Amino acid sequence: MKQAAYPVALGQVLEVEITGYTSEGQGVARVEGLAVFVAGAIRGERVKIKIAHLGHTAAYGDILQVLRPSPERREPACPYARDCGGCVFWHMSYEEELRAKAQRVTDALNRIGGQSLDTVPITGSPAQTGYRNKAQYPVAQVKGRPEAGFFRPRTHQVVPVSRCRIQGREADQAREVLVRWMTENRVPPYDEKTGTGLVRHLYVRTARATGQVLVCLVVNGDGIPQEKRLVENLLKSVDNLCTICLSIHKKPGNAVLGDKFVTLYGPGYIEDTLCGLRFRLSPRSFYQVNRDQAERLYETAIGLAGLTGTETVLDLYCGTGTITLALSRRAGKVIGVEIIPAAIRDAKENAVRNHVENAEFFCADAAQAAKKFAEEGIHPDVIVVDPPRKGLDETVVKAMAQMAPEKIVYVSCDPATLARDIKRLTEQGYTLTHAEALDMFPRCAHVESVVRLSREKL
Ligand code: SAH
Repeated sequence: MKQAAYPVALGQVLEVEITGYTSEGQGVARVEGLAVFVAGAIRGERVKIKIAHLGHTAAYGDILQVLRPSPERREPACPYARDCGGCVFWHMSYEEELRAKAQRVTDALNRIGGQSLDTVPITGSPAQTGYRNKAQYPVAQVKGRPEAGFFRPRTHQVVPVSRCRIQGREADQAREVLVRWMTENRVPPYDEKTGTGLVRHLYVRTARATGQVLVCLVVNGDGIPQEKRLVENLLKSVDNLCTICLSIHKKPGNAVLGDKFVTLYGPGYIEDTLCGLRFRLSPRSFYQVNRDQAERLYETAIGLAGLTGTETVLDLYCGTGTITLALSRRAGKVIGVEIIPAAIRDAKENAVRNHVENAEFFCADAAQAAKKFAEEGIHPDVIVVDPPRKGLDETVVKAMAQMAPEKIVYVSCDPATLARDIKRLTEQGYTLTHAEALDMFPRCAHVESVVRLSREKL
């Protein structure tokens, strides 16, 4: 749509009805067929807005006044809710947030995935605050001082946040020590425009079951000044701190962690328990951010695999082997594939420490590994996939179809790519036989889904 054809103009004030939500959690209104996205608005509300931006396919409005509030409207429990780009759902009840998320998954599966499902069930997170086990705070100069916090929505301006409601206290404690150490020692924050300065991100990971904490400082250099002082202060102030490391990251770009790690204190990893197993977690290895919900997710996925103890199961995108090892107790043999070498090292180590002898791990691109397995004539009974947001490569879909497992269990963090892949798999002779959503990220826009596809009997 050309801008000239827009039924609204920049700066125009108008009243609209909110009829749904975007995938980022904004309210959606329609003005003569044009979608208008309104952050902080709730379905069913009538709001007075000012058009703040005209995009390619939608306009964006800022709320001036809520004329008819929804009964689901709540006073945000987080004082940073308006400025911080981390969470998007503080202004509504958790029940309404769950309805929005279930609707998003259902709409994607129906519209993109070619299904005709009633609203999929969603399991909410019992904990809606303090559930996250990973914090990644960008560090920047704010009003002449080093600060760490979150980016303002759609910008790279850092909003200093001293207490994040969805994190544990450890992240706040580490943040406070870091900012003080940078101020006292005149350590410059990284400036992404010029590529100068030292400290880029603070990364804190907590193992919720064991309590162990890892702090990692991401730096644009090979070391830090006053290293001993920082280590001592962190150990004094951060509860259960077990290990401290540096991530050396000198390349421009948005990736949070660099490839090289230097351990300043402790073993360089922490350990958590999940599904009755003990896992070693390096900073670079993927680990679900909501541990308790991850356990529910994996149990659901394993239940959907319907194993009897004899099957061969392939787990693509296996990370540190969490799902693979949990599956191993119910299967004859499990094979995990993952692209990050550190995660595969963790996965192999995790198999040993949990006395799992029927698991094999390969460090490879999922597409290449799947293609190779298919060419070798390997026929797993079940394939589990848990890809990143971009979903499955076409090659993976084709290779999976060639391996022809009875069941495919797909764990997804992006309903749109999940739906696209379901469509592709139905074209390869699979039928969607189960779909549900699970909320891992209360107050944030993301939602997790788990589905099963079964092979049509020939
Ligand atoms: N199943 C694991 C990890 C899921 S996250 C768990 O639940 O903990 C997705 C994983 O896919 C990440 O570990 C990421 O490193 C990995 N990954 C991303 N691209 C990949 C690719 N092309 N091939 C194999 N693994 C990939």
